[in-house]
Amino acid sequence: MVARRTGIRAALVALTVGMAALVPAAASAAPWRADVRHPHHPRPWVPPWHPGPLSPQAGAPGLGDPFFPLAGNGGYDVGNYSLKLDYEPSTGVLAGAAVITARATQDLSRFDLDLRGFTLANVRVDGRPAVFTRDGQELVITPARPIRARTAFVVSLSYAGVPEVVTDPDGSIEGWVPTVDGAFVVGEPQGSPSWFPANDNPRDKATYDVAITVPLGLTAMSNGVLAGTWSRGGRTTWAWRESSPMATYLATATLGRFTLTRSRVAGVPSYVAVDPSQEAASAPVLAKLPAMVDYFSSVFGRYPFDAVGAIVDDAPEVGYALESQTKPNFDRAPGEFTLAHEIAHQWYGNSVTLTVWPDIWLNEGFAAYSEWLWGEHTGQFTAQEVFDDLYAEPADSGLWSPPPAGLTDPAQLFSGSVYDRGAMTLHALRVTVGDPVFFRILKRWYAQNRDGNVTTAGFIALAERESRQDLDAFFAAWLTTPGKPASW
Ligand SMILES: [Zn+2]
Repeated sequence: MVARRTGIRAALVALTVGMAALVPAAASAAPWRADVRHPHHPRPWVPPWHPGPLSPQAGAPGLGDPFFPLAGNGGYDVGNYSLKLDYEPSTGVLAGAAVITARATQDLSRFDLDLRGFTLANVRVDGRPAVFTRDGQELVITPARPIRARTAFVVSLSYAGVPEVVTDPDGSIEGWVPTVDGAFVVGEPQGSPSWFPANDNPRDKATYDVAITVPLGLTAMSNGVLAGTWSRGGRTTWAWRESSPMATYLATATLGRFTLTRSRVAGVPSYVAVDPSQEAASAPVLAKLPAMVDYFSSVFGRYPFDAVGAIVDDAPEVGYALESQTKPNFDRAPGEFTLAHEIAHQWYGNSVTLTVWPDIWLNEGFAAYSEWLWGEHTGQFTAQEVFDDLYAEPADSGLWSPPPAGLTDPAQLFSGSVYDRGAMTLHALRVTVGDPVFFRILKRWYAQNRDGNVTTAGFIALAERESRQDLDAFFAAWLTTPGKPASW
């Protein structure tokens, strides 16, 4: 923020001047400097790999997200999840084997994973049996030996049970949701630990290898590219590999009776799985998927991942679609703008991911505005028309509340205002800075933060840099001030 940055710089100058004034003699005399620079006795050489003493501590049970403080864990970063899952729809039992490759960020005496339910067995760290305890969704693992900071380690465990469906603060359901022929698997914001042990925080992205074994005749989908399928003893295994960093909440394993269509879109493999009951209704919309990927690539930058696709299930009790990485999940045949929304999330949300959940407008405002852009691109309406329609809403309309970046409760995460007023914020920015600057901001936001995590402050700073305008008041009015923004 231009004004605030100037303020900080001025404060730093004042601080430096003040300190110099307090210690003028020391600053000018500096009698010790010569000794420091040319020590009489060189310090003994220490091999750079000398391990030093270990001071192992417990990794934090959470990463302190304002809405989900216990989601995620401290002390390590996951590099890869390798999951072997076996699901039997007739009993609802999921059996899993997880191998998690991670790197310690501190000396660790113990650490947590997030996992809900299941009976566990064979918990090991680097191949050695480890002690574990359960406390809610915290799986606390104490390895046989402490783990040194900055070293890689491997956690492996087996688990089995009927996955619990997670009910969110806003009353919606997520996680491993059974359907008549399989399961609809979605994880935003906290459903993933209901089907695999995870460091369940969007900051810890990792690659995934997910192999799902299901009864012959069913199709099991996951993120990324299909590495192979094989059948044995009346069961088929579907092995998927997501090689781009992915937040846990974007992992999927939706399975059931599907027609799987493979093709190539934007130079990468496309996998579109459709429940037979939804085929007729979804075909005309899914036919637009390649054009959407091409259009958003031209506006935002190159498509982020090495696969595209969609999963259209028959799971109306879920009541929403989710942008699972490379394969958004739809609980029914999607409308055109729902598909555009979830495809646009592949850039904003999946590749460029929020750091904390209260910044959800960075996902949803961008995806909602992408719907407007798609409508404009296809000549159906202009973004200005949508904006004007919404802006005509009275001041007491729910459209304005809560302000998109002013959420105070996790139940507000998917409020209409996060989407509509979030998208209006971007359109108002476009009008304020002009099309060339606005679309450059969109492109740079993606290019500079690809595979990373972002904050609202970071977006404001970028918009101010690119536009050379002080936009503090503008963003305060649109993002954090309650009520209808009067002007901008
Ligand atoms: Zn969305």
